[in-house]
Amino acid sequence: MTFPVVGMIGGGQLARMTHEAGIPLGIRFKLLSDTPQDSAAQVVNEVVIGDYRDLETLRAFARGCDVITFDHEHVPTEHLRALEADGIAVRPGPDALVHAQDKGVMRARLTEIGVACPRHRIVADPADVAAFAAEGDGFPVVLKTVRGGYDGKGVWVIKSADDPAVTEPFKAGVEVLAEEKVDFVRELAANVVRSPHGQAVAYPVVESRQVAGVCDTVIAPAPDLDADLALQAERMALTIAKELGVVGHLAVELFQTRDGRILVNELAMRPHNSGHWSMDGAVTSQFANHVRAVLDLPLGDPRPRQPWTVMVNVLGGDYPDMYSAYLHCMARDPQLKIHMYGKDVKPGRKVGHVNTYGDDLDDVLERATHAAHYLRGTITE
Ligand code: ADP
Repeated sequence: MTFPVVGMIGGGQLARMTHEAGIPLGIRFKLLSDTPQDSAAQVVNEVVIGDYRDLETLRAFARGCDVITFDHEHVPTEHLRALEADGIAVRPGPDALVHAQDKGVMRARLTEIGVACPRHRIVADPADVAAFAAEGDGFPVVLKTVRGGYDGKGVWVIKSADDPAVTEPFKAGVEVLAEEKVDFVRELAANVVRSPHGQAVAYPVVESRQVAGVCDTVIAPAPDLDADLALQAERMALTIAKELGVVGHLAVELFQTRDGRILVNELAMRPHNSGHWSMDGAVTSQFANHVRAVLDLPLGDPRPRQPWTVMVNVLGGDYPDMYSAYLHCMARDPQLKIHMYGKDVKPGRKVGHVNTYGDDLDDVLERATHAAHYLRGTITE
C-alpha cells in the first residue's frame, strides 16, 4: 500500500469535505479533532481526539502521516516550526501560514511585495486610533485584533473618537490593527492553489456576499467584473501564493472599491467558503486540488463546468429539523446539490451549503437562495 496518508488538523466541515475529495483518489486520511462529534470526526475512519495547541499531541499525531495540513489556522506557529524541525512535511508551512494567522504580519508583508491593501497601522491605545484617523480621512476606522478573529468576530467599526467600542479590541491581549474603512461596492475572492513544485492554478474570481459579517452567497464567476480587473485579481493571488511560499489552497479576500480598485482584505490558507461552489461548479474542486497540492501531485483543471454557479450557505435557524425539508427542495429542483456538515443546528451557525448552476444567473441565484432559506425554515413554500 503506497498511497500516502494526509493528516488533517481540525475536525470542521472543511476537513470533512477535504476527506470526501480524497476518497476517490484512494488517499488515506487521518484526523486530529477536538471531539468525536466534530463534523469531520463523524465520517473519518482514523480519528485522534486531542488538543492542537499541545505540541506532544501534534507530534504523536504527525508520526503516522506523510503530510500535515489544516482545517483552520489556529495551530500555534511555533508548534508548526517544531514539527518541521522534526522532519515533518507541514503544508502550508509556518512561514506561509503565519500570514493567515496574524493580520499585522500579513499587512506588513503584502505592502512589502507591492500588493494593494487598505491604509493600516498597528495601534497601541484609543489615543493612537484617533491619531491614525487624523492621518487619513478621519473616522470611521476599522479595528481588528491581529489574531484569533473569524466570521467578523474580532472586527470593530469605530464611528468616532468617543465611540465606546474603541476600548474593546485592546481587551483581547493581542496587537490591534487599525485600517481605513474601505468604501467598497462588493467583496470578491481570488482563489488559487499552489503545489511545492510551484505549479499553480487560479479559479475564476467570485463575488462573496456577507450578511452580518458571515459569508452568505457566492457567485462564480463574479457578475459584470471587468476582465482586466479579474485578471489583476488572479495575478495578485498567484503572486501572493508564490511570494509567501503557500502550498495548498489560498483564498484572497478582496474589496472592489467604488473607484474601481482592488484591495486585499485577508488571506486564508486552506479550503475556503468562497470556494465551495467548485465542488459542483468546477472541473476540479478546491478540496481535490488542496489534497493534490499538499501531496505535490499535478493540479487539476480549475475551470467552471457551466456559465454560472451559485453557493448559498445553510445557516441554522429556529428550526432544528432540516431533513424533512429535503422532500420539498429535491422535488422542486432535481439539479440542486446539497452539502450538509452533520452539525447541530444553532442559530446563525454554518451547517451546510447548497450549490446550483446553469446558464441564467437570475434563475440559478433564485434556486440556491430558495433552497438555503427553505432548509433553514425561514420560508415555507
Ligand atoms: P474575519 O477574520 O472575521 O473574517 P475580516 O478581516 O475578514 O475578519 O473582516 C470581516 C468583515 O468586516 C469583512 O468581510 C468586511 O465586510 C468588513 N471589513 C473588514 N475590514 C474592513 C475595512 N478595512 N473596511 C471596510 N470593511 C471591512
